[in-house]
Amino acid sequence: MINIYDFTFSKLEEYLVLNKEKKYRARQIFDWLYQKRIDNYEAMTNLNESTLKLLKENTYFGTLEKVLVSESSDGTVKYLFKLNDGKLIETVLMSHNYGYSVCITSQVGCNMGCEFCASGLLKKQRNLTSGEMLLQVLMVEKLFKKRISHIVIMGIGEPFDNYYHVRDFLTNANDHRGLEIGARHMTVSTCGIVPKIKEFALEKTQINLAISLHAPNNEIRDKIMPINKAYPIEDLIESIKYYHSKSSRRITIEYILLKDFNDQKEHALELAKLLKGLNVYVNLIPYNVVLEKPFQRSDKKTMDDFFKVLKANNINATLRKEQGHDIDAACGQLRSGYNKGVVR
Ligand code: SAH
Repeated sequence: MINIYDFTFSKLEEYLVLNKEKKYRARQIFDWLYQKRIDNYEAMTNLNESTLKLLKENTYFGTLEKVLVSESSDGTVKYLFKLNDGKLIETVLMSHNYGYSVCITSQVGCNMGCEFCASGLLKKQRNLTSGEMLLQVLMVEKLFKKRISHIVIMGIGEPFDNYYHVRDFLTNANDHRGLEIGARHMTVSTCGIVPKIKEFALEKTQINLAISLHAPNNEIRDKIMPINKAYPIEDLIESIKYYHSKSSRRITIEYILLKDFNDQKEHALELAKLLKGLNVYVNLIPYNVVLEKPFQRSDKKTMDDFFKVLKANNINATLRKEQGHDIDAACGQLRSGYNKGVVR
């Protein structure tokens, strides 16, 4: 059985044609799914009998069951959802002055093993399908009763370790017959899987790319991100240059400030030198402490100083205003708390 939300528009057309149905039915089905938000076949009154039979016999409406909702004082809402196979995932809604964005989970668990991150506490169980990612947006819109304007794939999982499902998801999210969210309103974040960064460059979309760097040199990065052993910083920088040879889009570099580890002035200077001349901007992220991990958040002055050094060296940067700190909204913490029975 196929989750109906897993079809991109063109794949649905292909599927229909392959099964001797009319291609234009895809348009009608998408209209029911994404414009009218109907989740049963009985309501799809303009479909003919044979199309309905085909769909009923071979597809189903994937669902997400709401398990927990936790709301932060700053308007961030975190949802714990149960997938059809019983596995748990997290989706976060954030309110901004420019609209609402959702942070999407792309895998159940994660294999990247970053030392500071709670997501990797559970090894990857499986990839999410594109439909399961799409359902996160649909469910949040339904529960929160607001239209989502932005998507970031920065929840649990490494999106480029699930490249093709993520690509289908982005296609449907962007499609005017689908969720119709502008490509420039979507961001995919990777820990640095170089071949996929290059493949993404060739897609020539307007979708934003963010790279989790978190260190100014290999020595430091090796200690916190195992992926650096496979794709060290030189390869990463080379892939950024390659991306820029194919696209004029600016890349976001994410850098978590970890107390006394990568947050000193010398690190800022080294980072500025590394990124000099590249079309990037640096997003400095205050660390959200994870109980099981040894790292601490840098203090405010250290973060400000780091930011100033980057600025003084002509690197575009922002110090991220963090959200959802009081509800463990960062990265895998809700599920791990839920499993231990400590969720507030
Ligand atoms: N795997 C992808 C996307 C998921 S994580 C990636 O690595 O980019 C999204 C971002 O949150 C990454 O930059 C990640 O390093 C960061 N992050 C992980 N744990 C964090 C924590 N406890 N506090 C702050 N940021 C964290």
